[in-house]
Amino acid sequence: MKESIAPVLERLSSLRRAALRRVAANLEIQLIHAEILEYLALCNHYSNTPQAVVEYLSQTKGSISQSLKLMEGKGLIFRKVSKEDKRSLRLSLTAKGRRRWEQISEALPRMEVADISVSNCLERLLQSLQTQQGNKGFSICHTCRYNESLDDSHFRCGLTGEDLSLSDTQKICREHEFAEL
Ligand code: SF4
Repeated sequence: MKESIAPVLERLSSLRRAALRRVAANLEIQLIHAEILEYLALCNHYSNTPQAVVEYLSQTKGSISQSLKLMEGKGLIFRKVSKEDKRSLRLSLTAKGRRRWEQISEALPRMEVADISVSNCLERLLQSLQTQQGNKGFSICHTCRYNESLDDSHFRCGLTGEDLSLSDTQKICREHEFAEL
């Protein structure tokens, strides 16, 4: 018999968000700024654009743009023109922004499981949901259909042809696609 796990996922998501809100408030950071710091700390270099932040956090362009300006003013992030595409702006954490994210991350409850089968199960669920909704974007690189393993520590992105390190494969990518189920 199949059982819906939607209530469990809803609860996990709201508990995680409540914890982030609490930690951010203790550190006198707005929730949206903490969410942007988290995203920029975890995303790869294909995914650090203002538009990607808008899409990942499902916020309006106006509110993200305002937050980015404030965060830049506080010295938490900086913007630079992409080397590959001069029309595109890239966002990065400054050293101060990275320290802020580390403070937040250390204070958050761990979301880790010792049983690998639980994480595999969640990954399959994400794959199923994402493919139902057009299969594009914002999952972890090592689960992407384009991720090619060259050896234990060297990988290649089959979409762009770029080499990837092991740590690159742990990042969130906007171009991510799961293999067909
Ligand atoms: S392999 Fe997939 S997830 Fe990884 S960088 Fe390439 S497109 Fe992005």
